[in-house]
Formats: sequence, structure tokens, C-alpha cells
Amino acid sequence: MVENKDNKLAPNEIQEDKKINLRPKKINEFIGQDTTKSNLNTFIQSSLKRKKNLDHIILYGPPGLGKTTLANIIAYEKNVNIHSTSGPAFTKKGDLVTLLSNLSDGDILFIDEIHRLSPIIEESLYPAMEDFKCDYIIGSGPSARVMQISIEKFTLIGATTRLGLLSRPLRDRFGIPIQLEFYSPDNLKQIIMLNAKKLNINIVELAAYEVAKRSRGTPRIAIRLLKRIIDFSIVQNLKIIDTEIVLESLRQMRIDSEGLDEMDRRYMRCISEDYSGGPVGVETLSAALLEQKDIIEDVIEPYLMQRGLVQRTSRGRILSKKGLSHINKEYK
Ligand code: ADP
Repeated sequence: MVENKDNKLAPNEIQEDKKINLRPKKINEFIGQDTTKSNLNTFIQSSLKRKKNLDHIILYGPPGLGKTTLANIIAYEKNVNIHSTSGPAFTKKGDLVTLLSNLSDGDILFIDEIHRLSPIIEESLYPAMEDFKCDYIIGSGPSARVMQISIEKFTLIGATTRLGLLSRPLRDRFGIPIQLEFYSPDNLKQIIMLNAKKLNINIVELAAYEVAKRSRGTPRIAIRLLKRIIDFSIVQNLKIIDTEIVLESLRQMRIDSEGLDEMDRRYMRCISEDYSGGPVGVETLSAALLEQKDIIEDVIEPYLMQRGLVQRTSRGRILSKKGLSHINKEYK
């Protein structure tokens, strides 16, 4: 940390302002997900030895767990270019043809939110993934002709929060499926310590663990909380981030002992108070909370379910005993 004359933080000089890249670049800098990492490393090393391209990869799991980071790491380890885009960015078939025809041999095409590709674009991906060919329409109206063009052999990396929304034919064309899991507090602590170091911030290990426990198993949340806690410590002219400032900042941000925020608690309270603990359907919850169904299913629910606070049944969502006792003791 840069210090001024009084030995205090100099806020205008914290490293974050210099746009430090916090994303790990190499596979051994990627913390946690050990089995996934080791398998992936094997596939990469094998393809390097065989001088062959990697099979297509689908990365899936809740937001913020490292799908984009892993895609970039794969490109780095393979020493190839990565072209990044996302499902909703494709508006017409021509967008995909242009992108595919610009790829070089071995390049990686990364499509985030791949479940949001339109069916027409998805279908034109099939021959590209399988035979490295794509259809190209010349002209329009009755004189239009379909030409097939060859494209270079590339690796498609798709990322999605919901594998279930991918059509079967698309899912089957990925040779390497990788599921990312929520991180343990120990792994998140390591990520926090590493990011603090990159930002040139001093944080006590116990304090980092306290943040880790409240990060919903998600590196993106851990990093976001760390940055906000840095803000609190700067305003208080603290030199070191300790457990006390962490707990105080989290209280100010209304993050509870399970790492849940106001939105999580509104969701749980809605089931508990308005629907007597459930079961209640996700559409009903979406209408009651004025929140998109996708946000509820992709962002809010996965962690609450993993912690056993909410259960999903065929008749709808139910608050567990643990969930009920949690909201009764936190931020009423
Ligand atoms: P996703 O694409 O799954 O939404 P990202 O790859 O964008 O997630 O990751 C979110 C943030 O968390 C990034 O800033 C990234 O640097 C960090 N991150 C994710 N996974 C790890 C990890 N295993 N080790 C270190 N940092 C990570």
C-alpha cells in the first residue's frame, strides 16, 4: 500500500486505479476446482503433444465461478488467439459466418451465454463444429444461392449458467463438458489474499477468511466484497484490513452471516411469510418480487439450495427449517 506522510493509505494511489488485471492468466494461477483443473490440463497437454486442436468445450455453472477466466487460460496455455462474444450478440446468421471465416487454425471462439443463441444461429453452428464448414447465402430473393465455405479448424468454448437450456444436438457436439462448482471458504480466502496482494493491500488472514465465508462460494463476489471493504478501510484511514473492519463493513452492506444480501432475504421472506414456507412456483415468486425468473433461477437460488436453505420440489420452492431459522435471526 502506498502511504502518505501520516502513514495512512493514499486513496488516489491504490493499485486498483492503475487497472491491474485481476484475472489469473495461467492454469496454475487458477485457484480451486482441482479435479476440473487437472483434467483440463491433461486434455491441453495431450493436444499439445499430438499437435491437434482441442475438442469443443462447454463450461457450465452459476455466474462468477470462473468460466470466462478458464476460457482465457485455455487460450493462453494453448498459445492461440481467443475471439470472445456472447449468445445475444448474434442477431443474424451473417454475424456468425463473418466471425467463423475470420478464424485461424487452432483459434478459440468463446461464446458466453451460449444458451441464448437463436435456434437458426445454433443450427448453423452444427456443421461448423462438426465438419468445419458453414453455409453462406449469396444474393437474395429467388436468385439466392447457398454456398458452403470451409473454415479453419477451431475450438468452440461455450459458457452457460444453465446447461439444461441448451438443445440436445448442441450439447452433444461438445466433447469436453466442464462443470464449475461453488468454492470452499479456504479457496476463496486464497483468492482474496492474492487479489489483495495484487492491489497492494494488507489484509489479515483471519479477516480474509471472514470475507470468504460470506462470498456465496463465488470468486466474483469475494473480489467485489474485498474492494468495498478496501473503500471502508480507506475512509477510516486504516493501514491493515482486520476482522473488525471486515465485520463492520459487511454489517454496513447488510451482508449476513451466510453471505446473503437483501435480495436473498426478500426471496426467503416471501416464501416464508407470503406463502407459509412454500411450496411456491418460481413464476409466482418472480411476479411477487418484481424480479426476472432468470435472475431468480441463475443468481439467487443455486447458492441458497447448495446451503440447504431452500429446496426445489416438483410443486415449487420450499423454505427448509434451516432457512426459516436463518431469516428469523437475520436483519428482520
Ligand atoms: P464467469 O465467467 O463464470 O461469470 P469469471 O471468469 O468472469 O466468471 O470470474 C469472475 C471473477 O472471479 C474474475 O475477476 C476472475 O478473475 C475471478 N476468478 C474466478 N475464478 C477464479 C479462480 N479459480 N481463481 C482466481 N480468481 C478467479
